[in-house]
Amino acid sequence: TVNRVNKLNRYSSSVSKYGLQFNEKLMGTGKGAQQEQLVDANHDGKLTFDEIVQVLEFGQSKYNSSSEDIVEENMDFYREVYSKKVTEPKFAKLTYNVVYDETGLKRVLTKDEYPRANATMLTLVRNKELKAIVHTIRQIENTWNHNFHYPYTFIGDEEFTQEFKDTVRRHCSGEVYFEIIPPEIWNKPANIDPEKEKAGIKKLIENGVQYADMESYHNMCRFNSGWFYRLEGLKKFKWYWRFEPNTDYYCSIDYDIFKFMEDNDKTYGFTISLYDDPLTVETLWPVTLDFVKKNPQYVHPNGAFRWLTDSVQNPEYTKLANGYSTCHFWSNFEIANMDFYRGEAYSKWFDALEAAGGFYYERWGDAPVHSVGVALFEDKSKIHWFRDIGYHHSPYKSIPNSDKCTAPEDSGYFAPEDVHRQNCLPNWIKYEMTHKELQQY
Ligand code: GDP
Ligand code: MN
Repeated sequence: TVNRVNKLNRYSSSVSKYGLQFNEKLMGTGKGAQQEQLVDANHDGKLTFDEIVQVLEFGQSKYNSSSEDIVEENMDFYREVYSKKVTEPKFAKLTYNVVYDETGLKRVLTKDEYPRANATMLTLVRNKELKAIVHTIRQIENTWNHNFHYPYTFIGDEEFTQEFKDTVRRHCSGEVYFEIIPPEIWNKPANIDPEKEKAGIKKLIENGVQYADMESYHNMCRFNSGWFYRLEGLKKFKWYWRFEPNTDYYCSIDYDIFKFMEDNDKTYGFTISLYDDPLTVETLWPVTLDFVKKNPQYVHPNGAFRWLTDSVQNPEYTKLANGYSTCHFWSNFEIANMDFYRGEAYSKWFDALEAAGGFYYERWGDAPVHSVGVALFEDKSKIHWFRDIGYHHSPYKSIPNSDKCTAPEDSGYFAPEDVHRQNCLPNWIKYEMTHKELQQY
């Protein structure tokens, strides 16, 4: 612990040094230190369930006052981490699409020869987004899939037009599937009380919540949270890479990303981590804590508890969201194992979310739902931050400093200054990543 204290002092007294994971100001003292101790005990596998609940309830009891200083300090830390030049993941098994013959000659495997993982590229999309989805497919192909030819699944709530189908087929180097969501899955379920829903939407509108009264947006969030992996056409797949219209991919990746997930025992991969509008998820955390207390067996002892309950950068968010930091992985890019969602823990918890109705009474997003699920019920070492994938969905970017990326000189750029406060990645790095994980690139 002496070493730890020295490290902390060094960090806070001078310019941060890359590789130091903790910041005294962020860790705080008093209750904050208590929470840290609990989570440290957790690293040794000694945490009892009551102690886990204490950590999870931490955000309900403690609100620091946040300042611009903390936001900028975290952004400095972020830029510093991003300034490191990265290549491919180290200490990992990587698979390429090449073989070497007896004479040592390298040969690229064809689409038919290459043994792919059980995976699909996946997007929920509308006919009117044809141009925007092609924009993104071209980048995914150019930076990665031209080597591996993974299939694509296009999901719609309405039939795709012939033009849509023909056009996307021309740009995809793998098989192409179209899957239409049955109305009984897409539409608002019968347990939603119309009066309660009306009151909820009114409150969201008054609070300026985006898409508050757009029912299709609520349907979309619920579908992406707990239904897509149950579609007939998705049952045959284990892995998916979700992508969205009008997003950008900046870096070439030479290894098979799905096999990286599979061979290195990962469940969930992300690029960007943000805070959410707390008014969209006011009761997500209380409903979840209630579930967790009744079903303690589902909580993974090595969950990402501090990231979930942090109340430093945006304490008022944690307060409004009743103890949930609102930190989440931004799900418009995500790569994950659908068997995790299909498993007992996530399924039972999702049933509890459905019963509570927050997809319609509030506007629970699929990003916080996936994130809370994976951070509570999975070992956090199975959650992978893809530092080598350059990504943009307006207004946020993740730009690695790598020769394989366009504009590496912009690495460390996140978004316009007025939204710096929304960046939760510094928390993920400081609270949840091990030193080895930070050194992986
Ligand atoms: P935002 O990123 O939260 O602002 O939401 P988007 O408008 O980007 O929607 C998220 C994803 O869901 C995108 O891939 C959209 O194409 C898709 N999406 C949203 N609403 C609908 C809908 O009503 N029908 C279908 N088929 N897709 C939708
Ligand atoms: Mn979007």
